[in-house]
Amino acid sequence: MSKHPSLDVVIADKLRKKILTGALPLGAHLIEAEHVKEFDVSHGTVRSALKRLEYEGLVESIPRRGVFVVEIHPNDALELSTLRDSLESLAAKRAASTASPQEMKKLKGILEKMQHEVMRDNRKECAALDLEFHRHIVACAHHSRLTAMYAQLASQTEMFINLTDPLHDDLEHMVPLHEPIVRAIETQDAELAFRLSADHNRRDGELLAEQISTRGST
Ligand SMILES: [Zn+2]
Repeated sequence: MSKHPSLDVVIADKLRKKILTGALPLGAHLIEAEHVKEFDVSHGTVRSALKRLEYEGLVESIPRRGVFVVEIHPNDALELSTLRDSLESLAAKRAASTASPQEMKKLKGILEKMQHEVMRDNRKECAALDLEFHRHIVACAHHSRLTAMYAQLASQTEMFINLTDPLHDDLEHMVPLHEPIVRAIETQDAELAFRLSADHNRRDGELLAEQISTRGST
């Protein structure tokens, strides 16, 4: 593999960042020619960057209309939360028997950082650690197909976390939500790790779906 990512990967990274930070809002029209100018690259490069983002579920291509940042409907919020719960619970269950001591140490380290950032009320960092926490548990499961599926969902997961974060008044729920999962994996209680993770995103998914449908009806 080459050391430098290809240009379309670089452009996809830049556009992804804009979408995930809201600089390109949900539903925004992505005009190829504008990005060609903005990044000083070819049409082909922008097109293949957009294809990457489409594969990740961040943009959608509508025939004869163009490419748009996806819109999140109530059903998308529920689909994402239930799919995450399914993949993450499978990962947590396996991790209870497959995580190495080093991997366990890293997981506890992420939780400690999370505790620290909760105290500082640092939402941005907490959201990043939330994502890192679940990604690491998936890595601990040593299941290549699960890892690949979770990676494909990574951008949508990040979008989901960014959208659900403002639904909470504070970050107090973060540690009680994640600490028991770490403990269950550490004590190799696979069933408990599964159960805790199987329910982990449900409330956020429901809250987000509710918020979107209220917003849509006003
Ligand atoms: Zn989480």
